[in-house]
Amino acid sequence: MSQESIESRFAPILAEREVAALTRRRPLATSAQTPEMQINGLQVVNFSSNDYLGLANHPKLKEALQSVDSLSYGSGAAHLVTGHHLEHHLLEDEIADWLGCERALLFSTGYMANLAVQQTLMQKGDWILADKLNHASLIDGARFSDADLKRYPHNDMQALEKRLKQAQAENRQCLIVTDGVFSMDGDFAPLDEIQALAKTYQAWLFVDDAHGFGAVGPHGQGTFEHFGLTPDDNTILMGTFGKAFGTSGAFVAGSEILIETLIQLARPYIYTTASSPINAKVTREALRLVQDADDARQQLQRHIQHFRDGAAQIGLTLWPSESAIQPIMIGDSQRALDWSDALKQQGYWVGAIRPPTVPKNTARLRVTLSASHTSEQIDGLLAALAQCADAFPSHSS
Ligand SMILES: *Cc1c(COP(=O)(O)O)cnc(C)c1O
Repeated sequence: MSQESIESRFAPILAEREVAALTRRRPLATSAQTPEMQINGLQVVNFSSNDYLGLANHPKLKEALQSVDSLSYGSGAAHLVTGHHLEHHLLEDEIADWLGCERALLFSTGYMANLAVQQTLMQKGDWILADKLNHASLIDGARFSDADLKRYPHNDMQALEKRLKQAQAENRQCLIVTDGVFSMDGDFAPLDEIQALAKTYQAWLFVDDAHGFGAVGPHGQGTFEHFGLTPDDNTILMGTFGKAFGTSGAFVAGSEILIETLIQLARPYIYTTASSPINAKVTREALRLVQDADDARQQLQRHIQHFRDGAAQIGLTLWPSESAIQPIMIGDSQRALDWSDALKQQGYWVGAIRPPTVPKNTARLRVTLSASHTSEQIDGLLAALAQCADAFPSHSS
């Protein structure tokens, strides 16, 4: 058989995606990350970012950046070599204190943290029980581990319990893996029920709370706080700094033995250069802002309610989401793009989320709200959505 060229293999794949309205394009931002942005040359109000508390461009973070003279930008090496700076160390301690965990460990990205946890903790013969709508990085993390991946329908506690019973009968260790707040749907995992099941069946519990920490819970301590729960020693928490914290990077938090195990064994921790110490220092300031952000969290809650009430009046199909992530169901990918384009022309940036990021025929507009939006901006978006509903009437079919 003759060898293919890269072009002969991939040109048809790209063409197919184009026809199916699935081609991805990278919007080009030419201004800072704030509600008002310039994207692709358009002046727009941004309803697509995950900057839930409006910290990404916060003056305090910029101030923190101005006092970094004693820090290099580069870390120079991996954490186990010479890259582990005091700023990383202090940030880990402060995260652990904040969450009431024994220890925390920094990762360069949430994606890597998710690879690390499952690959390191789960061994051959173990089962990873994962919600079907988990974030792509959690799915990849399960694939890179030697354990078997068993996915259960979204938030289906009966299906989860059935698996746990089966695992118990076969004497298998299970890790239940779930988003705290689902990234494309905005709803919460029923952590109270999941935690109870984990205890009953002695499963370990891994919660990716990328969209919870900072934004959810009265003090921003995430989905556990939202449910009034405390994680136990067999619980692993993951959070990212790229969302409500407004910086970048991620952490895993939990018991002493968990964190020490990751330091010793986790390949995505060991074999990579430590993130910039400057990012750690600025993120420490972001943590202080998150801790002080009760007013912003209340503002965000008011915005969520305002948006949902307004959207219901227009007759839009919303998800049962209490979080800052408010998807509007469209269905067809091309229609989702048409809505998104029309909104952009009216000055509102709302991304169309299409398969394979979400299941087939569930293309949606993913509206994300931030405490830094104004009520007027939300009213403006609602008015533009009402126009779209008129211009593309078969939406409700
Ligand atoms: C964003 C996100 C990640 C990945 O985190 P990064 O730091 O951006 O790599 C992981 N899980 C969820 C649920 C996310 O939303």
